[in-house]
Amino acid sequence: SLPVVALVGRPNVGKSTIFNRIINSRVAIVEDQPGVTRDRIYANAQWMGKQFVLVDTGGITFEDNVIEEQIKTQAEIAINEADVIVMLSDVTGHVTNLDETIAKILYKAKKPIILAINKADNPEQRNDIYDFYSLGLGDPIPVSGSHGTGLGDLLDAIVSKF
Ligand code: GDP
Ligand code: MG
Repeated sequence: SLPVVALVGRPNVGKSTIFNRIINSRVAIVEDQPGVTRDRIYANAQWMGKQFVLVDTGGITFEDNVIEEQIKTQAEIAINEADVIVMLSDVTGHVTNLDETIAKILYKAKKPIILAINKADNPEQRNDIYDFYSLGLGDPIPVSGSHGTGLGDLLDAIVSKF
């Protein structure tokens, strides 16, 4: 069976945007409102001749405390079912408490974790990603789901794990 790659992160960091870019189609719903991705969305993807299943984690969430619980649950499901986990954050929001909560859950995973920082739309923002070393998940990879920049580096890192 194909390796499973899960995108994990707090609402609004751009998981669905990156998911759609990687699978080259608009399957996931991108929303300005945090937490709008419904359920989990799976699609086949490939890079450099390697195939995998990409998962957009999300969940319907309305209240702040519900969001936190949902995110923990999503991260734990990702740990169980994925072969590679991509934690996504957002350079415009800097490192938040929720980022730290997710990172702590992911430390427990005996699986490869890749840290990607989205919304690095310009060179100044690509420099701001160094804050994210504090999450303890290794080198942050700057990406822009809007512009498509950095996705080649992210995909190289993903397929290097299987
Ligand atoms: P999700 O909740 O993590 O799935 O995030 P979405 O993919 O729904 O995106 C949330 C918001 O961020 C939307 O308004 C997107 O258009 C915006 N967004 C996504 N990627 C980028 C990016 O690379 N740069 C900027 N500036 N905005 C982005
Ligand atoms: Mg989403």
